[in-house]
Amino acid sequence: MTDQPTSLTQAIRPKIRLYVEQPLGAGQPVSLSQEAAHYLIGVMRQGTGSAVALFNGNDGEWRATILKAARRGCELICDEQTAPQQNPPDLWLLFAPIKKARTDFIVEKAAELGVARVCPVQSDFTNAERIRRDRLQAHAVEAAEQCGATFVPPVDNLQSLSRWLSDWPDGRVLFWADESTADGGAASGLDGAPPGPAAILIGPEGGFSPDERTRLAALPFVRRISLGPRILRADTAAVAAITLWQARLGDW
Ligand code: SAM
Repeated sequence: MTDQPTSLTQAIRPKIRLYVEQPLGAGQPVSLSQEAAHYLIGVMRQGTGSAVALFNGNDGEWRATILKAARRGCELICDEQTAPQQNPPDLWLLFAPIKKARTDFIVEKAAELGVARVCPVQSDFTNAERIRRDRLQAHAVEAAEQCGATFVPPVDNLQSLSRWLSDWPDGRVLFWADESTADGGAASGLDGAPPGPAAILIGPEGGFSPDERTRLAALPFVRRISLGPRILRADTAAVAAITLWQARLGDW
């Protein structure tokens, strides 16, 4: 729950944006959770009559007015839609979780840059054996609140790379960010890449194991990509790969 950056184009949109898990529409009443009410009333000092922007990931953004303001529960009513629902392109981010703060960063940036799904992957050299999915999801929500998005990418539970590759969905290209391409001159791999459903795979600090490399290289839905002549940290690589894909094939 964060302030939205102000801009002229968003002047009529309320400054405070909140994600809610309730339907939104003209005249629709909305009750906030205790945590959201505390933020709005206790932290942001809003009261009865204040306007707030609400979004739920499906119905666009709505201006809502606070009808009842209490820290333990807050009731609002939706007035008018201030932005249509805008979903990102069908791009998934598969990444091997790294240290906590850097993993948080990856999820936050993936939500801001515009991915449709965030998929933490356990690979042979992944350090983390478990993740706090709920905490990562909260980071995605906060990033969407901050950047004016109306969509929040779902964050999956940790699943092994092997299982992902065995159950890969038809028609989706997997762009494998392969650090071995950094040793010189390889094309990005995005040149001439097909539009349509896609996923990006980013490895852990230790990179991909020899077995994983052999398997990935042989799969028909995998396309190897380079992120340039230097080896990037995994968090940098995730941001760079999403940016490249968005600029070539996405909605930028
Ligand atoms: N330990 C590995 C090594 O020394 O070769 C480096 C792993 S790198 C820190 C983490 C991940 O970022 C890689 O597995 C890969 O997915 C991605 N990556 C980093 N630099 C890259 C590059 N230049 N091209 C493609 N992918 C890259």
